[in-house]
Amino acid sequence: MKKTILTNLIAIFSCCLTTQLHCQEAWIDTSIHSGLIELKTDYSFKTLVSNDSIKTTAETLNNLNNAKLYFDKIFQTDLDFAVLFIENKEWNNHAYFPPPGLPQAGKGNVILGLDKSVISQEVEKMITQLPEQYWASLKPVYGEEIDLDLFYRETLSIHELAHLYHFKEGTKPQRKWLQELFATMSMYSFVKEASNFSFELMDTYPEFVIQSGDKMAEFKTLKDFEEKYVKKLSPQNYEWYQMQFYQNAKSIIDSNKSDILIKLHEFLINTDLSKTEILSDLELSTRLKTEVGKEIADILNNWKYK
Ligand SMILES: [Zn+2]
Repeated sequence: MKKTILTNLIAIFSCCLTTQLHCQEAWIDTSIHSGLIELKTDYSFKTLVSNDSIKTTAETLNNLNNAKLYFDKIFQTDLDFAVLFIENKEWNNHAYFPPPGLPQAGKGNVILGLDKSVISQEVEKMITQLPEQYWASLKPVYGEEIDLDLFYRETLSIHELAHLYHFKEGTKPQRKWLQELFATMSMYSFVKEASNFSFELMDTYPEFVIQSGDKMAEFKTLKDFEEKYVKKLSPQNYEWYQMQFYQNAKSIIDSNKSDILIKLHEFLINTDLSKTEILSDLELSTRLKTEVGKEIADILNNWKYK
């Protein structure tokens, strides 16, 4: 009798173990890890670099770990993921899409630049060609030389990590703008609550872009954002949309709606298109209002450009 119970227990235990291992394998896509060097860190997530003689990762890793602890607590999980730091010249061998150095996330991986991102190089060049009075406000935050990786890498890596918290459960949201809003709200909430010293790094560049107006955006409707998501939008146009979401995220989190992040996370997962039919704008608005909060439905209803 005893032996049977023991055998059963062993069977159940090893079954759980296999399921768990299998689950982790399925979640983190390791096919893009080959050829990378593993860094030894104090953190629970795996860190891989394309070149271990470039030492630019310590602060980013510390910030990511703090964000992980913050998000784990809010979403009541212990998310497993890998962080990859890739040089621009190696980008196409390990990342899912260009441009080199711009943070991205997918299939359990957060992929970051190891040297200066191409996007920062280009934007810095563009900005510093303007008369200095236009960009003088950036200097106290991003330095005399203006290092925009302090925004593009340090800040956006948190936005990308937040995406993994819903990607784990589903990757087909009702709307792309909802998932972007979620990641930006999560990022804003973390920086404001738990990483306040980096608030200026997160906030100054977006405010600068927002103040420069709508000229850079060819497309401005939410419908265009859905249809043209990333690939059919110029980088400036995509950024314009992200900055609109940032403004909305900021005012929602600043109004102290503490449980709205949890509700939006649940909503993204429960209405994922792998489980449910696509909702019309009217249906979406109604459900957002009752299941998440009026503020989110208002973004859809009050979007400036129709
Ligand atoms: Zn995003």
